[in-house]
Amino acid sequence: MTWTNWSGSVAASPREIARPRTEAELTATVARATKVRVAGAGHSFMPLCETDGTLVSLSGMEGALAFSADRSRVWAPAGWSLAKLTEALWAEGASLINQGDVNPQALAGAIATGTHGTGAELGSLSTAARGFRLMLADGSIVTCSEGERPDLFQATRLSLGLTGIALSIEIDVLPAYHLEERVESHPLAEIEARWDELAAANRHVEFFVFPYGERVILKTLNPASEEGPLKQLNDMDDRAFRVVCDVCTVAPWLTRHLQPHIVGAGVRQRRVGPAYRIFPSDRTVKFEEMEYELPRANGWAALKETIAWIRKRKLPVTFPFEFRLAAADDIWLSPFNATPGASISMHQYAKMPWRTLFAEAEQIFGAHGGRPHWAKRHTLTARDVEALYPHAGEFKRVRAAVDPNAKFANAHLAQLFAIEGNAA
Ligand SMILES: Cc1cc2nc3c(=O)[nH]c(=O)nc-3n(C[C@H](O)[C@H](O)[C@H](O)COP(=O)(O)OP(=O)(O)OC[C@H]3O[C@@H](n4cnc5c(N)ncnc54)[C@H](O)[C@@H]3O)c2cc1C
Repeated sequence: MTWTNWSGSVAASPREIARPRTEAELTATVARATKVRVAGAGHSFMPLCETDGTLVSLSGMEGALAFSADRSRVWAPAGWSLAKLTEALWAEGASLINQGDVNPQALAGAIATGTHGTGAELGSLSTAARGFRLMLADGSIVTCSEGERPDLFQATRLSLGLTGIALSIEIDVLPAYHLEERVESHPLAEIEARWDELAAANRHVEFFVFPYGERVILKTLNPASEEGPLKQLNDMDDRAFRVVCDVCTVAPWLTRHLQPHIVGAGVRQRRVGPAYRIFPSDRTVKFEEMEYELPRANGWAALKETIAWIRKRKLPVTFPFEFRLAAADDIWLSPFNATPGASISMHQYAKMPWRTLFAEAEQIFGAHGGRPHWAKRHTLTARDVEALYPHAGEFKRVRAAVDPNAKFANAHLAQLFAIEGNAA
């Protein structure tokens, strides 16, 4: 029995893949298993879902939305994909506060790893979580929130699945809104000069830049009035890009010659649609990804140093960097903890080598005070986690108290959090 993640870089051989439809079925599965991991949509690049024990999918679980009286919060089934959740919210007149690039992830999977979009004033999806119904290692169910089992709540806001199985999650939502998306090409130097102004003027701003390109694709999103049916379904057409990637796979040296021509000066698109349709894009060309969250003031220096290193070594990095922003938060394991962040994603075409590239670039991001996205490629050790996360000790104490036999750990997480027991 094999399970693979989205990019194909993680393959697991669980003893069993369980697809419970009810909480009673899930309780029976969890109570009898010695090792359990939950998989959402398998969109993590790190081996977070890897296990030789029981792999659980909640995608078939029953459930429904339950709004608070003022409709500012909603309990949602944790296994629902963001696609299903946001469509159901829209039908009820609500939208998520922010979303990332794609929407197949499970709500719980996205929250468990601190998945985020962009926006200087906006936190990750984990910051929207207000409460959890959680199945513990013995199959019992508890709820936690700021007012009820607050330590368990703090740990579960970004838990990598180590504190239990989220069954439903209460999240903050906004009244449904439309977004205007603008996608334009600009010189990199111009965007650097205007960055603070752009960050302040747009609810969401980000850009993509190829390591050998001089122009960026700038993308902004802002609330707007409705303008009728959405005609263009995706932000960018990546068919030509796929061809470039395949060419560079057989002739990597061409990467630096082709890339300067990919982003022309003429890119200029605008569309308006429901927020839940505008936020996510189709990403059809498979890649592997590393992402570091830098203190915001260090973002540009880290990006420019990484690009200079790639150019100097003539390295074949076929995908663009993605540069985003996120607000500081107070979540124990969040890479944005106490630090407004500039987020730099480094991608490589999935068919091309990435391990050495990422490991070397990680040195640059680390030297600029970066902390990695937990779901994306990194090489942190338990000592690094202690050094980077002042609250790691609190997280570990809560984890050990709720799961002393490490039923919910796996080898990767045992190594990261120095967990002893049956996990490794
Ligand atoms: C194409 C692509 C685009 C992406 N875009 C972004 C982006 O814009 N921003 C960003 O920040 N990240 C992004 N990511 C990363 C992605 O959001 C995270 O990897 C996220 O965790 C994936 O959700 P998932 O449902 O696939 O979770 P999985 O990868 O399946 O699992 C992730 C973690 O969640 C845990 N988990 C899942 N369900 C539960 C549950 N019910 N209870 C407890 N724990 C649970 C798992 O055990 C695991 O530890 C992207 C990834 C891809 C492949």
